[in-house]
Amino acid sequence: MLKQLSDSQNESIKSCSFCNDICVFACPVFEAERKTITYPSRKALIGYNICNDWIEFDEEAAEVFYLCSSCRLCYAECVWQCKDKRRDPVDAFKHFRAEAYTKGVAPPTIEQLEEKLSQGSLYGRLDDKLEALKKECAGSADTKSVVVADADNLALAFESATASVRLLNKIGALPLISDVYETGYDVVGVGLEARGIALAKKMADYLNGLDVEKIVVLSPKTYWAFTTKYPEWGAEIKKELLFESAYLLEITYMEPTIKAAIESLYKVQNFGMLEGYATYHDGSYFARYIKEYDSCRLLLKPRFDKLIEMRNNRFKAVPVAPEDFPATLKESTLECMARERLKDIDELGVDYVVVSDPSSYAALKKYCCKKKVRSVSEVMLETFMEMDLRV
Ligand code: SF4
Ligand code: SF4
Repeated sequence: MLKQLSDSQNESIKSCSFCNDICVFACPVFEAERKTITYPSRKALIGYNICNDWIEFDEEAAEVFYLCSSCRLCYAECVWQCKDKRRDPVDAFKHFRAEAYTKGVAPPTIEQLEEKLSQGSLYGRLDDKLEALKKECAGSADTKSVVVADADNLALAFESATASVRLLNKIGALPLISDVYETGYDVVGVGLEARGIALAKKMADYLNGLDVEKIVVLSPKTYWAFTTKYPEWGAEIKKELLFESAYLLEITYMEPTIKAAIESLYKVQNFGMLEGYATYHDGSYFARYIKEYDSCRLLLKPRFDKLIEMRNNRFKAVPVAPEDFPATLKESTLECMARERLKDIDELGVDYVVVSDPSSYAALKKYCCKKKVRSVSEVMLETFMEMDLRV
């Protein structure tokens, strides 16, 4: 017996099935695989048929729901935008993954992921990386903020997470690092729903029990999970939540540096520039889930000779990588996603491409010229200057 879909999931699969596939050419999985079964609407139609008991929910049907990177570009291009009712089938696909697991028809990869998860995360054990990051940290018992470096950050963008901590030390924020790194969000996303929600509750209990005021998250996906999915799962975090770029703006701009100079009498923190042109890539979670476009740009614009916007950015930004855990996507699909976005980047002839999420960071490092890829925190750290005003 299938668990009921929520009203919005139900609506999305019912009406996705009858549109004219307006969004199909935006779908990066279709772009890579060129099979009609990867159309957003066809995946929804399979779900609709399963709900009505018109087709069997077997291994073959279950696999369809994993042919998605959760980028939400179909939502951005949706034909229903004319009535301000865009359809977002991603949540329903995740529902069917959980059902497939319960029914025992999920792809074999999910069993292997369970094994990894028992070591600490979907990437396996990341404790050594967490310890290495903690060693960078200059926080003390009086610290009132904690940084959550999640499993993606530790596994995919460790250099960027390290830069974040070093930067926060330098500008005097002196954070602590969260002991817990598995948020549970991707665990739910791959279909291990009960375990993922239990991990989310564990993370929320841990953060709520800390004697800190602010929780700073390094990835936009975790910010989305904490602010949107955690409350739905009964795992509310009762502290101020900030994503990293918003926090950096708050402490570097909102409190004017000259005021800090007067207060400390001699020390001003400031940032310089890197030589050359840069572009900023909006990851899917900033672009379409949180819809936050400005904080990274405000930090980056003064750091380069020019910050150039690429085609297809902001709400319609083409993803460079799946930001949810790519449980079953083929390497050729992942490579195709990156190559498509690299075309947009290459046509600008920039010296740097800057990103703010760990998956895009890792994909660009893998498929792009390495010296040009930076995270926002790396740019800020590289341009940091201390000015001593003592006379
Ligand atoms: S998301 Fe919108 S455009 Fe895409 S298949 Fe569904 S209803 Fe059609
Ligand atoms: S979320 Fe992205 S990958 Fe998934 S169906 Fe929509 S466009 Fe395709």
